[in-house]
Order: sequence, then C-alpha cells, then structure tokens
Amino acid sequence: MKLLVVGGAGYIGSHTVQQLLRAGHEVVVLDSLTSGHRGALPEGVELAQVDLLDAEGLRAALAAHQPDAVIHFAALIEVSESMGAPGRYYRNNVVGSLNLLEAIVQTRVVPLVFSSTAAVYGTTDHVPIPEDAPLRPESVYGETKLMTERMIHAFHAAHGLPFVVLRYFNVCGAAPGGEIGEDHANKTHLIELAALTALGQRGKMMIFGDDYPTPDGTCIRDYIHVQDLADAHVLAVEALERGQLRAATYNVGLGHGFSVREVLDAVDAVITEDGLPPLPREVAPRRAGDPPRLVADARRIVEDLGFQPQFTDLKDIVRTAWEWHRAHPHGFGG
Ligand code: UDP
Repeated sequence: MKLLVVGGAGYIGSHTVQQLLRAGHEVVVLDSLTSGHRGALPEGVELAQVDLLDAEGLRAALAAHQPDAVIHFAALIEVSESMGAPGRYYRNNVVGSLNLLEAIVQTRVVPLVFSSTAAVYGTTDHVPIPEDAPLRPESVYGETKLMTERMIHAFHAAHGLPFVVLRYFNVCGAAPGGEIGEDHANKTHLIELAALTALGQRGKMMIFGDDYPTPDGTCIRDYIHVQDLADAHVLAVEALERGQLRAATYNVGLGHGFSVREVLDAVDAVITEDGLPPLPREVAPRRAGDPPRLVADARRIVEDLGFQPQFTDLKDIVRTAWEWHRAHPHGFGG
C-alpha cells in the first residue's frame, strides 16, 4: 500500500514509518517539522513539509500523492501546556484534523488511522480501562483528541470514511539498534528523564508522590513500547485495506502496569550493567492531575487484529530507551 503518514517525523510517527517500510509498504511523510525531525526519517523517504493549518497545501499533497490510506499522528501533545494555551491546542489539533478530514473527502475517501490517547478517559474507576468506559477528558489536550475522534465518526457516517482510532497508553522505548528514539523539546516522560539523568544532564529523579493507594505508593502506568505501538498501526491499516474493519477503536497497551519505583528500579538495573551508579531519587509532592492507576484493557486489539506486543519485559523496554539516549545524548540535534 501507499501510505501518507501525517506527523511521520515525530516520535511515534517515525517508528511507524520504519515498521511500514519493513512490512513492504510505500510511505510519504507529511510533517511541518515544528516538532518532528528530518533526521528521524530513513534516507529516501519523501517528505512533504506542510502544516495542517494550510488547508490548500494539504489538499495539494493528497492530490499529488494519491495515498491508499492516511495515518494521522500530527498534534501538540503536552497536557500541562494545553491548559495554559487552549487556543493553540484547539487550533492545531482540532482545526488541523478537520482540515485533514476535509482534504481527504475533497480528494478521495481513503481509510484513516488516528492517534488518540488514554487521556480521553480521564480519571476512572474502570481499571483496566475498556474502550467503552466513560469519556471524560480532564485536559484540553485530551479534549482535542476526543473532539477529533467525534469528527472522524461524523465523517464516517456522512462520507463513509473507514477508520481505526488507536488510544495509546504510556508510550516509551526506542527502536532496538538506537538509530531513532524520543526527542521532545520539553522532557516530561519518566523513562526519558531517567535516561537523561543517568547521562548527567539532570541532577536526580523526582518521584511525584509515594502516598497513592497502590502497593508501593507510587503511580502505576501501562508502558507500551513504541515499536509495538508502530506495529499496531501496521495491523490497523492492513485490516482497513482488506475491508476487515470499517470503524473501530482500540486501546493500545500491555494490559498490565508498572509503578514509578518499578520503572526506576529497571533503569538502575540497566545502567549499572553499564558501570554507572544507580540514580539518586527523591520523593516530591504529587504532580497535579496524575491518577493513581492507568492500565488498558487491551484485549480487543489482540482479539480482532492479533496484536502481540514483543516488548513485555520492563528492563528490555528501558534498555532500548537507554541505548538511544546514550548514543544520542542531544537527540537528533546532536
Ligand atoms: N513521574 C515521576 N517523576 C518524573 C516524571 C514522571 O514520578 O520525573 C511519574 C508521573 O507522576 C506518573 C508516571 O511517572 O505517575 C508517568 O509519567 P509520564 O509523564 O511519563 O507519563 P503520563 O502518565 O503523565 O502520561
């Protein structure tokens, strides 16, 4: 198939480009490069540098490339930033996605795979969280993703747009081999911060709260390896192409969680093997808005698409992130 990967120069997008190419598909990337990196794309992959707010440019790119399907990753992704800059988030994520949907309908209706998030659920008692749990996002970011899901449903009903929505849990790790990985301007994710701390770029690791109602008092999250997540996109787009799916929403997670302490223990295990000392840690106050436990009910995508994550061992997951950061201490800019 020929895929247009929107936001393909970002963290999850670039890993998906790699897995699509390995599966034998043809890829064109559309990215504004506002937060993505040219260096995250394999040599020879065509890049259309277009912003989603440029409706005319989008239409022209779709008309020129005539993809068989579109995978849409492009978005602003920071929860706390979204609360302070709602306009930017609604414009980029909602208006940008609307422009993409309209451009698809105006050129040729082809299947769409959309990056959504567990943040659409908000705090919930239904853990592990099934796809039909109540949708009550607690951030502007989560709200923009839910609004986009709803627009996709409306375009499906009105124009027959086939779609798969994937709701990601905590995405982490890097392609084994260390050539691409996570490089956000603003570092907030636990495993990335721990790796940068091990590299001496930060002083110590803060544990945001150890008085949660969990076995060791720290928050539990469902950590899904970025390459497994990339494979979920390949499965989704191939199932759409076969006509096996027309309108589906899946959680993507392992279906079990790890605590902050378990993650930091795994980081220590990996870096001490490299002769480094364990990371200094300090318990800090809770971070606003962190629910104690977020774990996916991940059975639906396993049953429907045969999704089988390869990275289920926390230490293996952490090792891939560590190898990327160790080889690229300053990310793609280094
Ligand atoms: N966390 C932490 N110290 C850090 C960064 C994160 O204790 O320096 C905790 C955070 O409070 C949450 C978990 O690690 O419970 C995962 O946070 P992350 O930002 O990686 O992802 P989120 O779950 O917020 O999407």
